[in-house]
Amino acid sequence: MSEKIVSSISSPALKSLCADIAAVSRQQKAWTVNDWPQKQLELLADAGVYRWFVSEEQGGFGWTADDIARGYIELGAACLTSTFIVTQRVAALKRIASSQNASLVDRVLPVLLDGTKPSTVGISHLTTSRRHLKQPILSVQRDGADMIANGMAPWVTGGAGADSLLLGGVLEDGEEILFMVPTTAEGIGIEPGFDLVALSASHTGVVKCNGVRVSPEMIVAGPKESVLASGKGGGAGSVQTSALALGLAKSAIDFIERESEKRSDLKSTHDSLQQQFDLIAEETFAVAAGEKAHTGELRADANSLVMRSTQAAMIAAKGAGFVEGHPVGRWCREALFFLVWSCPQSVAEANLCGLVEVGS
Ligand SMILES: Cc1cc2nc3c(=O)[nH]c(=O)nc-3n(C[C@H](O)[C@H](O)[C@H](O)COP(=O)(O)OP(=O)(O)OC[C@H]3O[C@@H](n4cnc5c(N)ncnc54)[C@H](O)[C@@H]3O)c2cc1C
Repeated sequence: MSEKIVSSISSPALKSLCADIAAVSRQQKAWTVNDWPQKQLELLADAGVYRWFVSEEQGGFGWTADDIARGYIELGAACLTSTFIVTQRVAALKRIASSQNASLVDRVLPVLLDGTKPSTVGISHLTTSRRHLKQPILSVQRDGADMIANGMAPWVTGGAGADSLLLGGVLEDGEEILFMVPTTAEGIGIEPGFDLVALSASHTGVVKCNGVRVSPEMIVAGPKESVLASGKGGGAGSVQTSALALGLAKSAIDFIERESEKRSDLKSTHDSLQQQFDLIAEETFAVAAGEKAHTGELRADANSLVMRSTQAAMIAAKGAGFVEGHPVGRWCREALFFLVWSCPQSVAEANLCGLVEVGS
């Protein structure tokens, strides 16, 4: 196996992969919608990162969920934007890998695993987005053996950099399907990415479906009620979203540590944040391993830590950190992302409680 391949969490290649993507990211001057992190994504694919997530029988490395969390923390600290894009590609990959549609799995899984033809997801409207609307935002109607999709997926990360999309649609009777479409399919419109508070380079935007024909070969799961509850792919607020937040917190805490080598007044701040990081990381690994129940609290704790540690890094960086281009300012903006991404109601409530309590 190539020395570049990260086949297990203990592989020395993980350290070198992280060093490489961190070096590319440090050189990246801007993180706008025009700054798609192509090089980092190539390095991640070449290192076999997509194989972490499926079993050896299916062509993967079969990492355990706790090792995946460990890996995500390292990658997230090295480059949050490309690691976030990977999470959305992995969500599609895992749904495909666990699909009952064997011919689709055979056709698509190999190119998802080697990263040559990635897919990404637009499924949050089945869990956390536009749930208050009376009509489904992306509906499907039966048409003989096929289905026709109309509407939009309000959030799709990296659609323009993907070969296919895994979308969720709702039938008239309320049942749901997951389906896959090539990004070039007739009726698919990938809108330009939003100018975001952070992570604009992830190219996140709307995907429109205008009479998109979905043949049975493209159905990944369903029709059934709550289609995301079956199969694998990680639900909203999954343990791996906490791992990503911890990755960003690690960048900030490591920065404070480096500063504290010159300024001893920062040492106790670093030690305290590091201690909290270690506790939440242990909790994350235990939850991922199934040793502890997964509640909204874990993600709320990770969110709280990422907010506090990035702001502490700003205090340590002083005015220099507030100048555009300094990484600490970007980290502070990126921390806000965790308040809105993949946050089920339980996480949102725990976050709000935390904010109210700290202030009272
Ligand atoms: C950068 C980024 C990348 C993302 N990438 C992906 C991705 O790749 N794939 C994916 O599937 N998802 C993705 N998501 C979606 C994400 O996981 C959440 O689903 C999304 O952030 C939820 O926000 P929303 O604005 O859609 O929520 P909504 O609940 O739709 O809220 C939108 C607005 O509706 C109004 N509203 C909300 N609730 C109510 C109510 N009860 N009554 C009346 N009005 C209400 C409010 O004005 C609110 O501002 C991404 C999100 C972000 C921010």
